[in-house]
Formats: sequence, C-alpha cells, structure tokens
Amino acid sequence: EKGIDHSVVKDFKLAKDNELRFEVETNQRVKLVLLDGSAELFGTELVHSRSYIFESGAKIAVFTWFGCSIRLTGKNEAAYVSKDTPMIIYLNTHAACEQMRKTADQEDIRGPRIMVVGPQDVGKSTVCRILLNYSVRMGRKTTLLDLDVGQGGVSIPGTVGALTVERPADPVDGFELKVPLVYHFGHTSPNGNIKLYETLISRLADVFNAKCDYNRLIKHSGCVINTCGWIKGQGYQCLLHAAQSFEADVVIVLDSERLYNDLKRDLPDFVNIILQPKSPGVVERPRDVRRDYRDSKIKEYFYGPRKIYFPHAFDVSFQDVELFKIGAPSLPDSCLPLGVEQEDTHTKLVPVTPGRDLVHHILSLSMAESLDENLIETNVAGFVVVTNVDVDNQVFSVLSPAPRPLPRRYFLIMDTRFIDINK
Ligand code: ATP
Repeated sequence: EKGIDHSVVKDFKLAKDNELRFEVETNQRVKLVLLDGSAELFGTELVHSRSYIFESGAKIAVFTWFGCSIRLTGKNEAAYVSKDTPMIIYLNTHAACEQMRKTADQEDIRGPRIMVVGPQDVGKSTVCRILLNYSVRMGRKTTLLDLDVGQGGVSIPGTVGALTVERPADPVDGFELKVPLVYHFGHTSPNGNIKLYETLISRLADVFNAKCDYNRLIKHSGCVINTCGWIKGQGYQCLLHAAQSFEADVVIVLDSERLYNDLKRDLPDFVNIILQPKSPGVVERPRDVRRDYRDSKIKEYFYGPRKIYFPHAFDVSFQDVELFKIGAPSLPDSCLPLGVEQEDTHTKLVPVTPGRDLVHHILSLSMAESLDENLIETNVAGFVVVTNVDVDNQVFSVLSPAPRPLPRRYFLIMDTRFIDINK
C-alpha cells in the first residue's frame, strides 16, 4: 500500500444503476474496497472486501446494478457518482450477441463478429472490454482482435493482435496476456503504412478463421474487434476493409451519427449497424497524455505491472541478427524506364545495417525461422529496445524481457522509440 495517502478516505453510497467515477492523481495511488452490495468494473465483478489499488493516471468507473457502498483511500481527482450511464444499452447489446451465440451453438455456425468503431476518446476499448467480460462470464471463449495500433490493447503500441479471452479482466491489470498472437506494424497510426495495415488485418482475419475451424467454442463465441479512432478519409477505408475481412455482422458505432450513416451506405444490408451513445464518464486524453500512456504500455511490457519484473540487458553481435524495415520509398515515375510500372514498395522488406540512429528504437523479433517465410505476415515472439550501438565493435545493446540467447535472428524495426528512464 506504498504511495497511498491514508489521510484521504471517503465512502460512497451508490443507488442501483449508478456509477462511481474517479481519476488517480499524478504520482498518487488509490485503494478501492467494495464494502457492501455488488459492483463491477468495466464488466468484471468486484470481490467484496478485497483491496484494488489503482496507479497514477488511471481513469476508473465502478458500476452497480443493485446498489453498493465503496471506500476510496488516497488522493483522487473529482470522484463523483453519476446515474447517467449507457450501461443498460451495453447490457442489451450483450444479450443480443449472446442470443446469436446460442444460435451458433445450435446450428454450428460462426458466433457474432462485433466491431466497435468511433472517433477518439469515446470509450471503444472500454466497450470491447465490457462485452468481452460479459461473454466470458457466460462461459464463452471470445476473441479480442485489436486493430488499434495507437494504444495497443493486446501488446505494445505499433502492433495488431488477437487474444482469446478465457476469464474476465483483472480490475487493475486488465486481461491476462498469456498467449496473445501479435504482429509487427511499426507505427502508432495506420497512416504510417496503410498498405501494410490492411495486409495485417487480412492476415489476422485468416488466422482467426483458421482458429474457428478447429475450435468450436471459439467459433461459436465470436469476436470483438477494437479499432482506431481515425475515421476520416483513408482511416474510414481501413474500417471498411476490416469489416469486410472479418465479415463483421455487428458494428457498434459510438457517438458519431455521420460515421453511422456512412457505414449504413457502404456496408452490406445484412450487417447490423447500431449507433450507441458514449459514456459521459469517458475522459478525453490530449496528445501528451496519449504519448505518456503509450510510454507506460511499453514500460509495462519490459518491467511488468508495478515494475514487478526485471528486464535483461545484453549485447547482440551484428552478425547474429538481421534487421529489416518494412516499406521502401517509391521511385518517382520519371526515374523508371519507359513502360515499367511502379512496383508496390510499401510491403517490401528492406535490410538495414545497424547504426547510431537505431538507439531507442523498438525491434520486434520475428518468429520466422528463415527468410523463405513471409516475415511481414509472421507473428512476433517479443520486443527489445536498443539502448546503444557500438559500430566499431559491431555490437548493439538491448533491453529484453527474456535473457539471452535470442530465440530467432530476424528483427523488424519500429518507428516507435522508448527511452528507458529507469536505468
Ligand atoms: P482511443 O480513441 O484512444 O482508442 P477509446 O475510444 O478506446 O480511445 P477508452 O480507452 O475506452 O477510449 O477510454 C478512454 C479513457 O476513459 C480510459 O482511460 C477509460 O478508463 C476511461 N473511461 C471509460 N469509460 C469510463 C467511465 N464510464 N467513467 C470514467 N472513465 C471512463
């Protein structure tokens, strides 16, 4: 309970269908205890009398269907109780999806493929979490497909991935990330390489379909697809591509009538598109808060939640690895011989010789065992961050969650950088 200001204690009594919202102040921690009644946190039931400790910056809502009392200990910003929540709408959506899962069980067909879309900061990830939690509480094995490269729900930012959820998220630490399937994208917006982004979405869809083919429970449980908040222009095209690739049959549009109308026009009639309000509790995050959040996700990858792990630092010899970036700048048409068409260079693998400019970059270690495999469409084993490059001695230093030796030799370079201030 280090870092909790025990002089600040407040009890809240919540009537049924109410929600307690609070944010943990910077450099503070807050302890939450359910004293009485029942309550849930983004769809996970809270255990009576247990201490839940939230870290600096956490934005929390605790909802109760039947009424409860809660004690908060520690400095928090503006804790308040609201009865204005869309939880009943989300519960109804869950009930409709569960009905589709029952039909899927009976007829051995695919369960609902639910895609959640909307602008930035409308609570897309939170709605995904609630729907996943409710479904696993019914005994389902629902898959989260995270296409939000900006925040990284399944792994670090700059990746897309899939995670089959078997138990409700931990109220503090979120879903157990035991065996996520992760693909390297390298940028924190699809804009970084649209062609690659769409290639990865198609790949994820294929992999998920294959999983459904050999596991009925996974097939009938369906999936929840989290998307980016970029909904204009090419961002919108990416959403259409995702809906088509995954053959989404339910699309939940949060808080954007315009997007809802566009999707109604562009998606086939059998897709069930629903417009739903965002929760008034969702907190807007300015650019710097998003950046800090991204940094904290990366830090958590190396150090674990609450810094419970120690990452390993070691040197890697240039000759033991091969580095690539994805995408080469295309040649201007005037440089091409007459009659030769521009080749698509966006998903081209470009070998890179390590240099000083690699410092602080994150590298994804591909699971590929040889270059005969398509590196771009192969999942990754994990990540390291480059902390130093010694060109004279042909070695670079890394921070890695696992000790030496590296299990594979092919690395993909991310645009994303991480400066380890723990050193
Ligand atoms: P992005 O556009 O970055 O993908 P998003 O739409 O997925 O964002 P979330 O990440 O779900 O939005 O929510 C933004 C923040 O608001 C999160 O920190 C979340 O914990 C918080 N939040 C969500 N719902 C509530 C609520 N009802 N009350 C208080 N805070 C909430």
